[in-house]
Amino acid sequence: MEIFEIVVASGNKHKIEEIKSIFTQAKLISMTDAGFTGEIEETGKTFKENAYIKAKTVCDALNLPALADDSGLCVDVLGGAPGIYSARFSGEGDAGNRALLLKRMEGLDERRAHFECAVCLCLPDGKTYFGVGRTFGKILEKEEGANGFGYDSLFYSDDLEKSFGLADEKEKNSVSHRYRALEDLRSNL
Ligand code: IMP
Repeated sequence: MEIFEIVVASGNKHKIEEIKSIFTQAKLISMTDAGFTGEIEETGKTFKENAYIKAKTVCDALNLPALADDSGLCVDVLGGAPGIYSARFSGEGDAGNRALLLKRMEGLDERRAHFECAVCLCLPDGKTYFGVGRTFGKILEKEEGANGFGYDSLFYSDDLEKSFGLADEKEKNSVSHRYRALEDLRSNL
């Protein structure tokens, strides 16, 4: 299938940049550049449901193909938290979220975690496609590196054998949950 222009249904600049550098088959434009200014409430209970809500809302509003990502960090010993609430974990943005995670993990030896991502592409003709991806590792005891965004500096990647905060864009994009979800989506198109 050939799709030339897709609106990325996200307000997160970091995510948009990552998606653009991974999903190179189409011209990707941000939802604000495409003229979407509404608020989207993420009322789903799973990454997949939230990705669908975002893509469907923007697709219906603009009558253009829309691609959304919903993602987060799932920590085993915290029962999968912060999960779909990763962006809203502390209520105080990325730095607050990292500080709260370190606090919750204080003194714990069990630190296994994974990032998870669901992507959804909605087309104006009603067709919907999904992709899912995970990447595994553990939560560090202190931040390492300043690259990336969100929880990257606290996530030690099993694949890269270093934190995402120390990885450059190309390294992270070769193993990330977002890359794997977009590859999965591509195979479903
Ligand atoms: P969403 O915009 O509701 O999907 O929230 C995603 C949140 O999960 C972000 O705000 C980050 O806190 C976290 N997150 C998702 N993907 C990544 C990543 O690749 N690196 C670091 N944090 C991430």
